[in-house]
Amino acid sequence: MPKTCCAVGCQNHNMMLKSLSFHKFPKDQERFNLWLTALKRDRPDGTPWIPTKNSVVCNAHFISGKPSSDQTHPDYVPTLFNYNTNVSSKKQQQQKLQRHANALKRSMKTNPYSKSGVGVQETNAIVQKTAISRK
Ligand SMILES: [Zn+2]
Repeated sequence: MPKTCCAVGCQNHNMMLKSLSFHKFPKDQERFNLWLTALKRDRPDGTPWIPTKNSVVCNAHFISGKPSSDQTHPDYVPTLFNYNTNVSSKKQQQQKLQRHANALKRSMKTNPYSKSGVGVQETNAIVQKTAISRK
């Protein structure tokens, strides 16, 4: 069954590009609500839209190209949508990622055994990859 992104104005579906990935809504209720708020999707009659278990969001809405389970990461919720593409430029998105990486580094110093150490490497790899691919 084809999966189609449920973001407003996004026509991406999994039969289109192999580079796209699709992500189900988080099971965590709080995060679920954050995603739902971010999507700003309402039914034509004005009632709130509720995602089904088949609803997915494509990776085009995440700064790093995939959701993060880290609450402090900018990709904890999808942020890139048609309705706000002018608000946040590519540069600002990179800065957001960098700030997150720096914050993780700082927290690593205070607690070298922090689990988030993996996240630092991951985020740095993404930032570097994106920097290279933009050249
Ligand atoms: Zn999408």
